[in-house]
Amino acid sequence: MAAPGGNARRRFLRMSTAATGVAALGLHMPWATSWAMGGGPPSGRVVIIGAGMAGLAAAWELEAAGHQVEILEARDRVGGRVHTLRDPFSGDLHAESGAVAFSGTYTHANRYIDALGLKRAEWVIPDLKPLYHLRGQRVVLDADHPNPWPYDLTLEEGQLGPLGIVDRYIVQHLPEGFQDETRWQDPDLLALDELTLAQFMRRNGASTEAVELIADTQWFGSFVHSGSMLASAMSNFGLFGGAVPFLLAGGNDRLPQAMAGQLSAGIHFGHEVVAIEQNESGARVRARKDGEPVTFDCDQVICTAPAQVVRHFDFSPALPPAQRAAMEGIDFADTLRTYFEVDRAFWFDEGVTGTAMTDLSIKEVAAQPYSQARGPQRPVVLESHIRGAGSREIAESGDGLLEDVLTQMEKVHPKVREHAGEGLYRHWGSDPFARGAYSVPAPGQITRYLTRLGQAHGRIHFAGEHTSILSATIEGALRSGARAAAEVVSALNNKMA
Ligand SMILES: Cc1cc2nc3c(=O)[nH]c(=O)nc-3n(C[C@H](O)[C@H](O)[C@H](O)COP(=O)(O)OP(=O)(O)OC[C@H]3O[C@@H](n4cnc5c(N)ncnc54)[C@H](O)[C@@H]3O)c2cc1C
Repeated sequence: MAAPGGNARRRFLRMSTAATGVAALGLHMPWATSWAMGGGPPSGRVVIIGAGMAGLAAAWELEAAGHQVEILEARDRVGGRVHTLRDPFSGDLHAESGAVAFSGTYTHANRYIDALGLKRAEWVIPDLKPLYHLRGQRVVLDADHPNPWPYDLTLEEGQLGPLGIVDRYIVQHLPEGFQDETRWQDPDLLALDELTLAQFMRRNGASTEAVELIADTQWFGSFVHSGSMLASAMSNFGLFGGAVPFLLAGGNDRLPQAMAGQLSAGIHFGHEVVAIEQNESGARVRARKDGEPVTFDCDQVICTAPAQVVRHFDFSPALPPAQRAAMEGIDFADTLRTYFEVDRAFWFDEGVTGTAMTDLSIKEVAAQPYSQARGPQRPVVLESHIRGAGSREIAESGDGLLEDVLTQMEKVHPKVREHAGEGLYRHWGSDPFARGAYSVPAPGQITRYLTRLGQAHGRIHFAGEHTSILSATIEGALRSGARAAAEVVSALNNKMA
């Protein structure tokens, strides 16, 4: 990791104008501190569990406040669920196995991206006919077939189409404040936690078939019947509604890598935390490194591992029962993503998009946007992305998985087999350090669990996307890390006062 002097300091001088602006917005540069600039000694020792977006944001903020940070990371890389796959793809082709889309509304992420000088890649949607596979039919949307939906819709719903239905039965009914994460406990918003998105649509007049059309054709559709409407309102509509999505040029893992590169914190890879103890004089984190026990003593701990992992940690003293119930109760969704490099974007020949929403077992077929943007003659990564139900079953189907996915993809793109090379898949449910893709709270779970998931237990503070109302997002994870860091700074300041 870069030392706080040297390059970082030179960089600070170059970036001083930007850094001042960023600090004024509440985001600190770790190298722009009195400590990093040669001031007083560090005032507190903090162990952060996890080098994902929440852990890195927390480390960044704590170093800015002059504290000494050690990060324990079970994997051999930073980024957690922001992970770019490059092998076995040719040239500079790559695919995201975790987070894909950033949004213009991601205030924390955008500040880091700008401060670190990272380049954005536009989310290009080529001017091609939208493609679907629904209820046994391959559906192409064009001027001759403006209402091709094989659903028993009302006349108005048929004319509206999926986007019009989303606007008519969802967006127009969202309560004021859904774009402001601090307002999630406003009564009108909190009431949405009692409903699924399907129930919300029905309440606003949608037919059952319109709900199914949305479930089958929208990126958030997999959780229409299971997720809390409040989570959907704040994360999906609040963050993405109307804002422009984008990726990072070269891969989204550029962000965690660049953040880690600017920290002076030691990042201890291959350290799997199993227990956290605390008493009146400090905290001790117990981990395993190559099967051997190791311990780290500190003043405060920030735990950013996903709740599905944390629920297996030993806490001494034990977590309060209500907090343990929250860790054990919050629902996580699974995902399975399967990738094939195709030698060219052959779907341009037919004038249809590479990306298609389907109700087949493979669900969404997606051409990685940056690669499709390069036109019809260049190689592209084509994936199938199953969110939620069905992921585990297919992931555990054995050796034939890639072949089965390709067979299903042929229903969408009949010529895919002629163009596809080697494939690979990524199943987040089998990942021991994630045990799922992201939290998708069921109705009632935000009300019951959210404040408890992020509540400090003595010297132990909790962050991570699952502690944020902006669940399942990079932005929620970053903001939760900054929030936990502020708690730690306050605890250390109180101790020294
Ligand atoms: C398939 C998928 C698609 C997604 N799409 C998007 C999207 O398009 N846009 C978006 O904004 N977000 C998306 N997300 C969500 C986003 O990736 C996450 O919300 C965010 O990255 C979570 O960050 P985190 O720091 O909370 O958790 P993590 O990234 O999981 O970080 C926690 C870290 O803790 C480590 N750890 C776990 N257990 C231990 C242990 N015992 N000891 C030590 N270390 C441990 C992990 O290895 C990890 O590095 C997606 C996620 C997935 C999986």
